[in-house]
Amino acid sequence: MRILVTGGAGFLGSHLCERLLNDGNEVICIDNLFTGQKANVAHLRENPNFEFVRHDIIDPFKYEVDQIYNLACPASPPHYQYNPIKTIKTSVQGAINCLGLAKRVKARVFQASTSEVYGDPIVHPQPESYWGNVNPIGRRSCYDEGKRCAETLFFDYHREHNLDIRVIRIFNTYGPRMHPNDGRVVSNFIVQALKGEDLTIYGDGTQTRSFCYVDDLIEGFVRFMAQTEIVGPMNLGNPGEFTMLQLAELTLKLVGGKSQIVHRPLPADDPRQRRPDITLAKRVLNWEPQVPLEEGLKRAITYFRTKV
Ligand code: NAD
Ligand code: UDP
Repeated sequence: MRILVTGGAGFLGSHLCERLLNDGNEVICIDNLFTGQKANVAHLRENPNFEFVRHDIIDPFKYEVDQIYNLACPASPPHYQYNPIKTIKTSVQGAINCLGLAKRVKARVFQASTSEVYGDPIVHPQPESYWGNVNPIGRRSCYDEGKRCAETLFFDYHREHNLDIRVIRIFNTYGPRMHPNDGRVVSNFIVQALKGEDLTIYGDGTQTRSFCYVDDLIEGFVRFMAQTEIVGPMNLGNPGEFTMLQLAELTLKLVGGKSQIVHRPLPADDPRQRRPDITLAKRVLNWEPQVPLEEGLKRAITYFRTKV
């Protein structure tokens, strides 16, 4: 198949491009390199089945493709809040452009949605049926509401135009090729520990997240895109739940060194807890994460050692 991946030079996108090429597909990767890097796909550029296009998905694009994976959007809070209006345009106008293309060329189209659609969840763990608890006017809203609106667009195109959609809600995922300055917690802690700097916990560190290793997530993407039973939304993530204090302590144990834990103010609307209910993914995809946090962190640390 010929497959378009938007955001293909980012962290998840580059792993996805690599996987799709290994499976024998042609891949067109489009990315404006806002948070992505050419280096993430440099090893793919020799492959005649791979094509990189520098392009912003807010502007329309046309390719004859069989499938579209829409991943373009900054995912780390400091980056998506840097230019919030641009972030929401990327989610909403970018989704419209992907859906318009999918309609024209009759492609199956995938949306990388997020656990952020659940906001600061009152239901725990979060099943797909939960509608969420999202602040529509806060600092995180450009991302959360942009992704919620993109889901709405995907389902309206599905109902109105019978578009073949797939919507995945991704929970915190980490691994090699996250940018060292990405700003998300796993890369921050590892980079800080490797540099011998103090690990910055926002708030008291009792808030929780569930961390999925990138290879597990990409396997879930491909299985979800291949099946025809459901269009989603489907949660993908690792149900293992950790406090930020536990994550910091584990990182320090694995990296070693002299770093201490320090506390910084908790950002507004930071969700208290998050953990995916993956019953649906287990049943439909026969999928569940294989890489435990400690093992995944070791692999990520090995990568960041080469970057720091
Ligand atoms: P990332 O920031 O590494 O990747 C995003 C990519 O999109 C980057 O390469 C960036 O340059 C590109 N991009 C941003 N705006 C663009 C635009 N307007 N036009 C073209 N390209 C643009 O982040 P990631 O972790 O790889 O996330 C990929 C997708 O998965 C995002 O849509 C994100 O919302 C979603 N997601 C990720 C996670 C996670 O934990 N990694 C969790 C939930 C959802
Ligand atoms: N966090 C932290 N220190 C950091 C970066 C993040 O304690 O250096 C916290 C953050 O406040 C949040 C959690 O870690 O409670 C996960 O943050 P991240 O930005 O990785 O993802 P998200 O909040 O979008 O789940």
